[in-house]
Amino acid sequence: MARLSIQDARNAVLEHIARVEAEEVALDDAFGRVLAADAVAPNDVPPFACSAMDGFALLAADTESAPVRLKIVGEARAGHGAGIRVEPGTAVRISTGAPVPDGADAIVRQELTESGDDELLVSEAVAVGNDVRYAGEDIARGETTLLAGTLLGSPEIGHLASLNIAEPPVVRRPRVALVSTGDELVAPGRDLKPGEIRDANGPALTAAARAAGAEVITSLQVGDDRESTVTTIEQALRGADVLCTVGGVSVGPHDHVRPALERLGAREIFARVSLKPGGQVCFYVAGETESDPGTLAFALPGNPASALMAFHVLVVPAIYALLGRSHTLHTTRGVAETDLPGAIGRTTVVRCSAEMHEDGWHVTPNGDQGSHILTSLLGLPALALVPEDRELLPAGEPVDIEFVG
Ligand code: AMP
Ligand code: MG
Repeated sequence: MARLSIQDARNAVLEHIARVEAEEVALDDAFGRVLAADAVAPNDVPPFACSAMDGFALLAADTESAPVRLKIVGEARAGHGAGIRVEPGTAVRISTGAPVPDGADAIVRQELTESGDDELLVSEAVAVGNDVRYAGEDIARGETTLLAGTLLGSPEIGHLASLNIAEPPVVRRPRVALVSTGDELVAPGRDLKPGEIRDANGPALTAAARAAGAEVITSLQVGDDRESTVTTIEQALRGADVLCTVGGVSVGPHDHVRPALERLGAREIFARVSLKPGGQVCFYVAGETESDPGTLAFALPGNPASALMAFHVLVVPAIYALLGRSHTLHTTRGVAETDLPGAIGRTTVVRCSAEMHEDGWHVTPNGDQGSHILTSLLGLPALALVPEDRELLPAGEPVDIEFVG
């Protein structure tokens, strides 16, 4: 079967995704979550007409013949009802945010006045509505202000607070299960025997899944053995929206992941993608029924850069789609600062450093691009996507770039 382009592979994954359900969380825990329902304002913001300035509430008509003297009849403070009426010839001292007293139709800021305890001199005329913030000026009751799918950052959280939405409905975090395969793998912190290496992918993919907004519900390791691969994957699939296995996806005698997934009844959607590194990635759907969309199962290759690139290209968009996120990857256009390596027939993801210039981002390969080289991903790199029809993308040419995280 011909390899799918990364765009076709992304689309094939998205076809199998339905947004997961909503849950309510306290506003303090809502940062970084995705809103599950449109936010409709139950009240006006500001809720009442209030002053934009420290000064005096008065009738604009009284200032037409400024300079003019008015009698100060009271004070309106923020957080308190005004409880006083402004009649012609009078004014009320007012603080920023305090309700405009009945009768008043304008505010004159303090800098344009001189005042004693109960006498005010206004030096300039003000118009009706001057320095008044009207009820509903920011948000009118009934207005839809945030759409489902919005990623909640600090302004959105402040906005929800001002709408008195104390427990916003957010999309449940997609549940991700990870399985690292390989006899050679040892978790950090334990002694290594000859031939063993550290499991770098388990921790890296845990972090990547969390960064995308998912929850990692299981992270297991299994040796290169067919039966234990089947039982470990079976265990990992339970309750997971997404399964990522790492390693054991080639055609060697010790690569058991694909036969294990098939033994477990998973349906292959595609095997291999025109992607370098990471092109060995395969995608299955496991345990789907009429009522259950099943688990999206990604069999990622074991080399650390391949695993992370395949995760970025396919799994991150899948997590975003499960979350119903409206903003997806940070994709933009940059310029190659030096020649970028390509490969005919494969989109090459070149791990780059990026620098802002007058004409936009300039990207430079971040060291050795071997699929086993994780250091090329350190820092905050951009991924430059060299199209599959280019053996080399020369310096100075434009290139699509995606930022990680
Ligand atoms: P595989 O895809 O299982 O053939 O693995 C390809 C290469 O990636 C081998 O050199 C493995 O030792 C290495 N590798 C596989 N899994 C991991 C992992 N979790 N952490 C670090 N390296 C790995
Ligand atoms: Mg292996």
